[in-house]
Amino acid sequence: VPLPERLLISRIRRVAAKQSGKYPALGIGDDCALLRVPPGQEILATTDFSIEGIHFRRDWHPPDSVGHRCLARGLSDIAAMGGKPSAALLSLGVPAKLPQSWVDRFLRGLLQLGNRFGVPLLGGDTSQSKAGILADIVVLGTVPKGKAILRSGARPGDRIYVTGELGASAASLNLLLSGRKIRAADYSAHFFPEPRIHVARFLRDKVLASAMIDISDGLSTDLEHICQESGVGAQVWSEVIPKGSVGKSRQEEVDFGFALNGGEDYELLFCSPRSRRVPRRIAGVKVTEIGVITRERLFRLQRNGKTFTLKPQGWEHFKW
Ligand SMILES: [Mg+2]
Repeated sequence: VPLPERLLISRIRRVAAKQSGKYPALGIGDDCALLRVPPGQEILATTDFSIEGIHFRRDWHPPDSVGHRCLARGLSDIAAMGGKPSAALLSLGVPAKLPQSWVDRFLRGLLQLGNRFGVPLLGGDTSQSKAGILADIVVLGTVPKGKAILRSGARPGDRIYVTGELGASAASLNLLLSGRKIRAADYSAHFFPEPRIHVARFLRDKVLASAMIDISDGLSTDLEHICQESGVGAQVWSEVIPKGSVGKSRQEEVDFGFALNGGEDYELLFCSPRSRRVPRRIAGVKVTEIGVITRERLFRLQRNGKTFTLKPQGWEHFKW
């Protein structure tokens, strides 16, 4: 049974307030959330929709996964800039018949991830929705003045790197689309993606990245974004792109197409000047060199000794 809106708000406020009590620099309970900007820092702000039927399906995604993914997308955007996330705001629209237990589990998934990265839920809004569940998350973060890592800093000769492995999220989604029932625990890259906050922090502190983006749309598309903003091209060696694995004990390696074009991995894609030594593992996460930035504004993919011109085919949100 759903709660009336008034009760829903007070419940969200209660769980959020309990959590934000741990962050004395931040205020809650007034018309606005009040945030203290540390001296010498700039504010990062990002907003992301999670819409039922577009970004998740209630019959596919457990509510705690929807909550986790909702916040993970925002945290990953903060990571992409080399920032430290500091707070989240949530606007939530729910159908009148949605059981309160769904909202509770959604919030639990969201707050658990937030707690791990020291990110309180500072406020938001709720409303009844006539068209499915609709969650809009705002994540705020900080970065030292002038130190944000942009998409526009890649230069010819820079090496291209990715964190972790790619394609597992899209491969999982493909199984869901084909009607397979899959357990969230066996396909965590899709259901519980890990934003690469600590890796990004290391790259920023060591000034290793000339440009960075998080892989939300797919490697090919997100690399294109870096190239467009930087006015450069890229050459990628397909054999070294790290492919993710899915299934029980991760025994099924995903197809190359998922690794190249599949979205929602939330790994980091970054460039680094040739002279910088990039560790092969940062904060426990594998880092792989996959290519080089070129002056010529083309995408080239090397495969089996042949060179192909790469067409970006990143993931469009699934439709049916
Ligand atoms: Mg992004």
